[in-house]
Amino acid sequence: MSHYELRCRECGRTWGNQPRSICDDCFSPLEVAYDYDALRGSISRERIAQRPPNMWRYSELLPLPQGFEPRLPVGFTPLLQAPRLAKQLTGTAAAAGNVYLKNDAVCLPTLSFKDRVVAVAISQAKAFGFDTVSCSSTGNLANAVAAHAAREGLKAWIFIPSDLEPAKILGTNVFGAKVVRIAGNYDQVNRLCSQIADEHRWGFVNVNLRPYYAEGSKTVGFEIAEQLGWRLPDNVVCPMAGGSLIVKIKKAFDELIKLGLVEEKEVKFFGAQATGCSPISTAVKTGSSEIEPQKPATIARSLAIGNPADGHYAIKVIKGSGGWSEDISDPEVINSIKLLAETEGVFTETAGGVTVGTAGKLYRQDRILPEETTVLCITGNGLKTTDVLAGVYETERPIAPKLTEFEHYLQKTLSPSEVPGVIAEAEAAGVGA
Ligand SMILES: *Cc1c(COP(=O)(O)O)cnc(C)c1O
Ligand SMILES: [Zn+2]
Repeated sequence: MSHYELRCRECGRTWGNQPRSICDDCFSPLEVAYDYDALRGSISRERIAQRPPNMWRYSELLPLPQGFEPRLPVGFTPLLQAPRLAKQLTGTAAAAGNVYLKNDAVCLPTLSFKDRVVAVAISQAKAFGFDTVSCSSTGNLANAVAAHAAREGLKAWIFIPSDLEPAKILGTNVFGAKVVRIAGNYDQVNRLCSQIADEHRWGFVNVNLRPYYAEGSKTVGFEIAEQLGWRLPDNVVCPMAGGSLIVKIKKAFDELIKLGLVEEKEVKFFGAQATGCSPISTAVKTGSSEIEPQKPATIARSLAIGNPADGHYAIKVIKGSGGWSEDISDPEVINSIKLLAETEGVFTETAGGVTVGTAGKLYRQDRILPEETTVLCITGNGLKTTDVLAGVYETERPIAPKLTEFEHYLQKTLSPSEVPGVIAEAEAAGVGA
């Protein structure tokens, strides 16, 4: 018997383990429930520390099939201090040591946190005997499902809105997946996939395998706690599309407390969205507990879900924690991508820009304070969304490969006092040193 099974989030009915995401009794979503009493003796900080640095070190708290052998070292991405960004966001040097980036822009194999959720979903897809896996995607999920399917020898059918970034489409094609472009937005693609799932015996990672898939996001929370020295932060700022990641980081922290792996602490959760698709932050800001669906219009395509599946639960987590949610405009997204890159050397995609820009707004509103430990979730890589930076940097005319040309260029570009690293004459003559 496994130590986990599906359970209805509302009526509590259990459903064993099967490809299913909705309770037939009350039509509410299912989630994975664990026997924590059975786990309490078998999991400890020391045992986890002895394992390889990837997300499988938390396998007791993931719904993995019996005898599962990981074939990819997914996760355990860096948690970086961000002192220069902190100063820019807060306007004070006091925050320097308190702002962290959870950098899933370098998550393997496809450079977004979606590799975590897909890794878990695919393990169950194989256990349930599916030979074809599938998903509806805003881009990163498409990349992750295609790559993992290739690695496991499964067929992949990927459904995407037709206006996705070229790099995300190419980054799906390359793994040999069948990519079906739909003339519609994500919410329409997703509805179509629910219908296909009723007709074809395929493992849709975010439809019939969704409860297992979503558990993979918890590993972001486990890693944040372990990398802070088995301590919880004061605040987490998290980008939201379907609203699953923010809910699962909260679940991860709660599980660590329940198992005695970290000390109990109230963590505030802050949601980040682009104003052009902000159904969750709008609900939080207007005091509503339900989502009013929107029609997405933003460059942050990875977050462009107008009717978020876990929106209701995301609102609950945010409000219940004493946190808040905000959204920023597309120009602010671009400025925030640049700010993060220029201050910390991290190139994130639009979703990361949303997180960084929203964090700045929350500091300015005094909802997050500089002296608090705050983690910003950077969930995807900037090389996948370079199209949004087209036109931001001008392509200069090339100069001839001659020193005189370069000196001329320097004079034209900078005033004499700005020219960096001029070698003094004595030094140049070999006298000084
Ligand atoms: C999917 C995605 C998110 C949001 O995830 P949800 O769990 O659907 O809220 C955030 N960032 C990136 C880069 C994503 O691809
Ligand atoms: Zn139910």
